[in-house]
Amino acid sequence: MVTVKEIIGEMPSPSAEDIAYVEKTYACAEKAHEGQTRYSGEPYFIHPAATAKILAEYGMGAVTIAAGLLHDAVEDGCITREAIEEQFGKELLFIVDGVTKLGKHRYRGIERHAESLRRLLVATASDVRVLIVKLADRYHNMETLEHVPEHKRERIALETLEIFAPIADRLGMGKMKSELEDLAFPYVDPDAAHHTAELRNLVTKETETGLVKVHKVLQRELSKKGVLSFRTDIRIKGLWSLHQKLKRKGDDISRIHDIAALRIIVPTLEEGYITLGAVHAHYKPIPGELKDYISFPKPNGYQSLHTTVVTPEAGIVEIQIRTEEMHRRAQFGIASHMTYKQLGKNVEKLAHDVQKSRFSSLSSSWVRSLIPSLMHVTKPADGPDKPTKAPPWLVELADAYAEVSGSEEFVEGLKEDFFSHRIFLFTPKGDAIDLPSASTPIDFAYAIHTDLGNHLLRAKVNGKMVSFDTELSNGDVVEIIRRDSANPSAKWLDHVKTSLARKQIRLALGMTEPDKRPPRRRKKLSRRKSAKH
Ligand code: MN
Repeated sequence: MVTVKEIIGEMPSPSAEDIAYVEKTYACAEKAHEGQTRYSGEPYFIHPAATAKILAEYGMGAVTIAAGLLHDAVEDGCITREAIEEQFGKELLFIVDGVTKLGKHRYRGIERHAESLRRLLVATASDVRVLIVKLADRYHNMETLEHVPEHKRERIALETLEIFAPIADRLGMGKMKSELEDLAFPYVDPDAAHHTAELRNLVTKETETGLVKVHKVLQRELSKKGVLSFRTDIRIKGLWSLHQKLKRKGDDISRIHDIAALRIIVPTLEEGYITLGAVHAHYKPIPGELKDYISFPKPNGYQSLHTTVVTPEAGIVEIQIRTEEMHRRAQFGIASHMTYKQLGKNVEKLAHDVQKSRFSSLSSSWVRSLIPSLMHVTKPADGPDKPTKAPPWLVELADAYAEVSGSEEFVEGLKEDFFSHRIFLFTPKGDAIDLPSASTPIDFAYAIHTDLGNHLLRAKVNGKMVSFDTELSNGDVVEIIRRDSANPSAKWLDHVKTSLARKQIRLALGMTEPDKRPPRRRKKLSRRKSAKH
């Protein structure tokens, strides 16, 4: 069992107030889960305690750590939302509520829904801290997946690979991403995981001794150039990511040169480029393999110089060069923008203040919580040396809206980009379905199953009976009532938005001639064409 001391021990310079807060929530959560057990038979509280420790390791603040401690407490009915708010404040309740809501969206392995569900989770997590707690929660659940009944393991592992690891990646949390993937891999494809692990061991053993020699050589070469305080580590490629690369390279391991890469971490950007020069002066680089992700960061903000060189000591090796700051961000991503060690309590407080002002729509508020710092970054007056507080992919979007002064318009524009005219709907069981905007219950029924569309009797939206021409809105819970004797009518063709529904209705009506009806909305014709399913 992770103790409260261990959690506090991971926090970077916590205040007395923070310590007291975490201690109080720890005691409360422990009591709330009293008597409950995990699948393993251990006390349930080991799970929230471990989740909180992960959050502390990621440098999160006291409120987020407390949310980790209490994230399952409300749902299991051991403590009320009111009690949490009264004892620990609105902000904590807000995050706990968000995590609980996210838990309701389930993934059923329908491939085309994976991306939409991913985007939905990102969007409905009204505060990015909700996603970070959710990722820490998932991380510990993956660590203990062996205790979960066998028939559930694969689904959970697949969901981790297809939904949560990509979210971690999107947030720039490289360490979380690759650890989640490697925890899930053996449950999804045990043979491949075993095979990949053996291959990796073989190659790593060979390369590692060579890399130690390369390190010694570089130490000498770099000191000649005046780069004295640098450190290196050997980065071993994640198993899942190696597996993916092997598939791309026709299962030929000799074509992969970054299984074990040498990472050089330097104090400053200038020293990074000096190091690259020294490496290339000493070892012959392989043409076309130099990637300057410092000048051109990856969309999730990743920054580093990658080059592949031929060494007598270790053969062909990849060398990655980055600053400490880039290294930290590559591992912790958006979480590193939120550590109070770096920014004081500003960001947490900022998010809190922004939230207090309440929005028309919660779905964009975490994006919004980043906006003040985001706008800051785009202002040249801020100086180029200040650490970027918002992830670059958000900054890029911000640049696109730099002309827009009001944050309202800004967020609207951002949302447009995120959702590109799709809406997200739910079945009563919580499965997510995405459809073009202005879709109707008929489209929804056909999207689930042809049979459900063909025998659609009535539709309920958010518990209320609606007519078939009702335009659905984002987040609606749609229930389709089916009856064998119900059949499509030609009138339905006026009320559908998707070509799938249109096609099925025409089939059911025995219409063979080409559809001469005008599309439901002419002006959106091009949009429908471009909509991907
Ligand atoms: Mn949990």
